[in-house]
Amino acid sequence: MAFRQDVDGEGDFGFDVLLACPEDDCPGPAWTPVYNAGDLYKAYRGALDNDEDLICTHCGPRTEIGSDDLLAEAS
Ligand SMILES: [Zn+2]
Repeated sequence: MAFRQDVDGEGDFGFDVLLACPEDDCPGPAWTPVYNAGDLYKAYRGALDNDEDLICTHCGPRTEIGSDDLLAEAS
């Protein structure tokens, strides 16, 4: 687990937390925003692994995983 500050320019949250991509066989790390210590704790426990805000650097947003639309702007 790692943290980054708002490096993708969305500007609506302070930190992302690094998670494994929920997709099997995906090599890419995924990020999901955390807003407070409670979210951080949930991420630590794995509760955010399927968070709808999760964005995989390889697959794209969680909501689009399974489609062919890659998140070009996040790479
Ligand atoms: Zn992925």
